Amino acid sequence: MFAQFDLHERLLKAVAELNFVEPTPVQVEALPPALKGRDLRVTAQTGSGKTAAFVLPILNRLVDLTERRTHIRAVILLPTRELAQQTLKEVERFARYTYVKAGLVTGGEDFKVQAAMLRKVPDILIGTPGRLLEQLNAGNLELERVEVLALDEADRMLDMGFAEDVERLCNECASRQQTLLFSATTGGAALREIIGKVLKDPLHLMVNSVADLSENTRQQIITADHPAHKEQIVQWLLSNETYRKAIVFTNTRAMADRIYGHLVAMDYKVFVLHGDKDQKDRKHAIERLKQGGAKVLVATDVAARGLDVDGLDLVINFDLPHSGDEYVHRVGRTGRAGEQGLAISLICHTDWNRMSSIERYLKQQFERRVIKEVAGSYTGPKKVKASGKAASTKKKKTDKKGAAAKPAAKRKPASKPLASADGMAPLRKR
Ligand code: AMP
Repeated sequence: MFAQFDLHERLLKAVAELNFVEPTPVQVEALPPALKGRDLRVTAQTGSGKTAAFVLPILNRLVDLTERRTHIRAVILLPTRELAQQTLKEVERFARYTYVKAGLVTGGEDFKVQAAMLRKVPDILIGTPGRLLEQLNAGNLELERVEVLALDEADRMLDMGFAEDVERLCNECASRQQTLLFSATTGGAALREIIGKVLKDPLHLMVNSVADLSENTRQQIITADHPAHKEQIVQWLLSNETYRKAIVFTNTRAMADRIYGHLVAMDYKVFVLHGDKDQKDRKHAIERLKQGGAKVLVATDVAARGLDVDGLDLVINFDLPHSGDEYVHRVGRTGRAGEQGLAISLICHTDWNRMSSIERYLKQQFERRVIKEVAGSYTGPKKVKASGKAASTKKKKTDKKGAAAKPAAKRKPASKPLASADGMAPLRKR
């Protein structure tokens, strides 16, 4: 029950209307200390209900707003436009019975229109680091009196190269009383560094660790012979699996376009999202997917970041993500709010070792699935090491010096399969 939290009645009323009955684990853990004003570092996935965990404490601080607006009181920094837009919607839904106003500043939108909005001084400013800095440098933004700062998907912001911008913006909010930092993963050295710089004696909450991914989402792999074979499998899955909405992830824009083209040619209701698409295309694609006009989205990671679509229950990794974190980001889109999800990764011989690294990172083994109708010849390496990676069956190479010393005639002829026939080829760079 949300009534257990020390939230203003206007917020409780909005929460009840949104049919939020039971708080999610991240809300249970984060709301009480955040409402008391404590700095938090929270590790929680997208879909865990983390947005409410920082938006509600911010609104609770501002709800008794009576004086005339003179300055921005809260800032929410996030990595992408879509996530910023979704967060604005969430803020507006919770703030409907208050006088709190929020504004959005992201790239891809009109600079002057944003400047005009900033002149009216929103109470809460939501934005992406790059454009916020541009507005700041243009003299349109004053952050000195910000009281609370939230960083959402902080790990992703750093991955996207925003570390310096984030730090600068945090420094601009010099008199803030509270900082709330959320990330989907525990992150690396860069995240630790920013945490050390921007948080004061934070409480660290680990909710929904990566190992929890499997709870509502089945994770499978299907082996494939080559990219064209992967395309066949994708088409089979989209025609035969039971799903409400599906997302197919690729690592490159070119591959996203290619798969999109083939699916359109086969009359699928499909959209494509990647970094070359402009803001209008992106909004359109997301709206159509939300309203059910399209069932399938083909996307690259960055374009799909922050996407929150109800009923997304099938994730297909056409290309395997580059890291375990990225895998969590992608697959975390299914199995939300207790619904069942299915995540399927397509694995060629060049993907095998990366897949086994991801399995080790998640501390679980993916289900191996074979679809008779589209089965290929590659079924995994002949031998695997204890780590799960492919064991090389190549003959040990003699070192160059030794080889040169021996007469050529005595050297064994290199057998043909040395190249890759057994699926042991080295990882190919994408
Ligand atoms: P988030 O992780 O913040 O992106 O939230 C994922 C989805 O769950 C959003 O659509 C939220 O509106 C929804 N949600 C968050 N908390 C709750 C809750 N306690 N009860 C029901 N739905 C929720």
